[in-house]
Amino acid sequence: MSRETHNFIGGNWQAATSGHVFDSVNPATEEVLATAPDSDASDVNAAVQAAKAAYQEWRLTPAPRRGEVLYRVAQILEQKKEELSRVMTQEMGKVIVEARGDVQEAIDMAYYMGGEGRRMLGYTAPVELPNKFGMALRESAGVVALITPWNFPVAVPSWKMLPALVAGNTVVWKPSEETPLTAAEFVKVFAEAGLPPGVLNLVTGAGAAGAALAQHPDVRVISFTGSTETGLKVYTTAAALGKKVALEMGGKNAIIVMDDANLELAAQAITWSAYGTTGQRCTATSRLIVHKAVKAQLVDMLVEKAKSLKVGYGIENDVQVGPLVNQKALEKVERYVAIGRDEGANAVVGGGRALDKGFFYQPTLFADATPDMRVAREEIFGPVLSVLTINSLEEAVAVNNGVAYGLSSSIFTENVNAAFRAIRDLTTGIVYINHGTTGAEIQFPFGGTRGTGNGMREAGQTALDSFTEWKSVYVDYSGTLQRAQIDNRE
Ligand code: ADP
Repeated sequence: MSRETHNFIGGNWQAATSGHVFDSVNPATEEVLATAPDSDASDVNAAVQAAKAAYQEWRLTPAPRRGEVLYRVAQILEQKKEELSRVMTQEMGKVIVEARGDVQEAIDMAYYMGGEGRRMLGYTAPVELPNKFGMALRESAGVVALITPWNFPVAVPSWKMLPALVAGNTVVWKPSEETPLTAAEFVKVFAEAGLPPGVLNLVTGAGAAGAALAQHPDVRVISFTGSTETGLKVYTTAAALGKKVALEMGGKNAIIVMDDANLELAAQAITWSAYGTTGQRCTATSRLIVHKAVKAQLVDMLVEKAKSLKVGYGIENDVQVGPLVNQKALEKVERYVAIGRDEGANAVVGGGRALDKGFFYQPTLFADATPDMRVAREEIFGPVLSVLTINSLEEAVAVNNGVAYGLSSSIFTENVNAAFRAIRDLTTGIVYINHGTTGAEIQFPFGGTRGTGNGMREAGQTALDSFTEWKSVYVDYSGTLQRAQIDNRE
């Protein structure tokens, strides 16, 4: 039976003012799971005004108290983990164990950022004159807008809203139009945890609602995760209005396998990084850069593993690979596989749809790709892996670094010198040694170079950089007007 969700504005659950709704479809069954408000600029404005009205009180709430709300969020999420995970699997298709991992990241982030309520470190430094004191403090920024995708419908928003909230900002969140039900269930947790009305607001809808948020004059910061195309649009709009923007966009992540690697370990890691979450992670592996000496053996191992993966409805415990998120995503994968075939990349496993109903595609491997092919350069966001052959570490690094994105990379080698050279020379924001390209932990910075981002990072301490402004404070307790000896300072 289909459910109905609402916007959450100023502590009230409500429909869009226009009354318009859109459907959220289960990608495994193609059934309508929920209908949600199709919000327009007037709903977005109402949410921003609610956030603005709640800001002063929330900003003046002592940070340790704000942190305690986050601890309660973590506890309630622990209780609701299974329920929320099931909704997620039904709504966007990732298999249930991965959905649990998605919710767990939000739990981890809530505890971690809850701790910032008692930390939020600034600093003092010596000053030039006697009887004077200087310090730098982190201050809240104001109303923060979050625009998020569907592939991590709880984890990615949590990376944004938890640091934003503990720092004293109020939030308007526009989740992906693919996951309004998961978003509403997540927001209920905050209401239950005692977050005051207006501090977190939810507006569901499509790109128009996101665009209205990005250009709203009362929004100070925008944190966006999604496609490069949309991210750059948001950036352009917001930059012209002087807003601060944090962007997380595309990826084309690679695993390098050297001739001395533990091949069984590498094959397992590649399989899960490439086909886990149906290849729809920002950090998914879509390129394998393998040394010529071990290529044939590794490809054989990968073909065996890809064939053995169980594709199906992720709510069933033994299913390993769920559907693509929607028909459009499925058609994009089909288009790229056709392009790869035309380019001569040689699909040795997969290469077609799976199952009769739902947006399923077979785990696919192109065994003979080259770095100039489109399948080896462009983001496909599906279960498609392209194999590139190299002869040396230098060549592997050059191929890895030679794409438009720079999120995650990995090398399998038993040689410590090669590992450290790779750490030095791979120009991605995340580097793994003897591990797949996925599995980032929330206490470290997350983000990428080149076309993946705009130099900001999420998670870790650096998450606070997106959502705070520095305030430098000088206290003169000399009782006299002290002037520096060379009086030319601003
Ligand atoms: P994805 O491939 O993940 O759907 P998108 O970049 O299309 O990537 O979507 C990411 C988020 O950006 C979604 O919440 C989407 O609704 C929103 N969005 C889409 N178009 C725009 C736009 N023009 N301005 C702001 N947000 C948008």
